[in-house]
Amino acid sequence: MFEDLIQMIRSLYKTEGFIPLHEPRFSMLDQKYVLSAIESTFVSSVGEYVNRFEQDLAAYVGAKRAVVTVNGTAALQVALRFAGVKADNEVITQPLTFVATANAIVYNGAHPVFIDVDRETMGLGPDALKEFLDRFAEKRNGGIYNRLSKRRIAAIVPMHTFGHPCRMDALMEHANAWGIPIVEDAAEALGSFYNGKHCGTFGKMGIFSFNGNKTITCGGGGAIVTDDEALAARIKHITTTAKISHPWKYVHDEIGYNFRMPNLNAALACAQLEQLTGFLEDKRNLAKEYASFFSDRKWGEFVLEPKKCQSNYWLNALILSNKNRRDELLKMTNEYRVMTRPIWRLMSDLQMFQNCQTDSLKNSKWLQERVVNLPSSVRL
Ligand SMILES: *Cc1c(COP(=O)(O)O)cnc(C)c1O
Repeated sequence: MFEDLIQMIRSLYKTEGFIPLHEPRFSMLDQKYVLSAIESTFVSSVGEYVNRFEQDLAAYVGAKRAVVTVNGTAALQVALRFAGVKADNEVITQPLTFVATANAIVYNGAHPVFIDVDRETMGLGPDALKEFLDRFAEKRNGGIYNRLSKRRIAAIVPMHTFGHPCRMDALMEHANAWGIPIVEDAAEALGSFYNGKHCGTFGKMGIFSFNGNKTITCGGGGAIVTDDEALAARIKHITTTAKISHPWKYVHDEIGYNFRMPNLNAALACAQLEQLTGFLEDKRNLAKEYASFFSDRKWGEFVLEPKKCQSNYWLNALILSNKNRRDELLKMTNEYRVMTRPIWRLMSDLQMFQNCQTDSLKNSKWLQERVVNLPSSVRL
C-alpha cells in the first residue's frame, strides 16, 4: 500500500538510487570559503571566520551574541552550566528528543526529569510543565525544589522537534512564574520562528547544531545564543580554554574547555548560512508536496507547522494511524531504498535514564509509536 508514496518520493528527488533522510548540500561558495581558510593557514583555533560566523548567526536569529562551539552537545553542556545547573540538581526536559539533550544534563552532574510533549508541536507541553510544577515544585532557600526528590530544579530545556517550535509564550510564562531559567535546545530549529521570533532566542540561552544532518552544516559545530553580553563573554572565555587575551603572555585563569569551533569549520558555516534562505524555501516546497500527497490519505497525517509558527521543516514527519502501519511503512520504504526512520525511543525508556522521574508521558508514548521521518534533503 506504500507503493505510491515510494513513487512520489522518487519523483520529488528524481532518482532511482538510494534516497537518504537528510544529506548536506554544498556549492562553489562552500569550496571557496573552505579553500580560503586553508590558504590563510588559520584552520584551527583562531581565524576570521569564527568571528564572522558568530556575528552572522547572531544577526540572523536576532540575538545579541552567539558563541560557536565544536558541536551542539558541547554548546548545551556549557549553556546548562551557565544557566546555573550544578551537580545533583534536576533539569526538566522532554523524553521525545535526541539523546544529546539528556546527556548534556548528565555531563553537569544533574538529573533529567522527563515531562510530556504536546501532540501538535511534539515539543515540551506547557500544560504538562505547569501541572508538574504545581504538583512537585516548592520554593525554599531561594531556590525551587522538587518535593519528591528534594533536589533543586535548576533549568528547563524545551526542544523544537524536527524544527517545529514549542509553544514558547506559555512555556516562558510558567518558567518565569517559578523563576526557573529556560535553555532552548534549538539544535534542529535554525530558520524556525514562533510568532515571528526565532527559536532559541526566548530563553536565557538557546543552542544550535551544525552537524552533517542538520539544515546547514559545517561538518560538526554548534552555537550558544543569548542577549546577555556579559554571559556571552564568559561563555566565550570558558569554551576557548580560558586563556587571557594578550599579545604574548600565555596564561589561563580557570579550568576551561577546548570547545571552540575550528576556523576551517567556521568557513564552511559562513558559506552555508549565506545559502540558508534558499534551503528553507526548498524545504517549504518539499513539505507542501508531502502535505498535498497526504491530504487524501487516511493512513497517515503529515505534520504541519504549528499555529503562529514558521517551521524550517528540517525533517518531515508523518503520523501513521497505528504502530503496525508504521512498521510496515518503515520496512517497505527501506527495502525499496527510500530511507525512513522512526522517531526516537523515549529517553525514559533508555537504560541509562530509566530511573528518572516522568509524568504520564501520554502524548510522547502515542507519538513514539506512530511518527516516522521522510526524506527531507534540500533538492537545489
Ligand atoms: C543534533 C542535535 C543536538 C546536538 O548535536 P551535535 O551532533 O552535538 O551537534 C542536540 N539536540 C538535538 C535535539 C539534536 O537534534
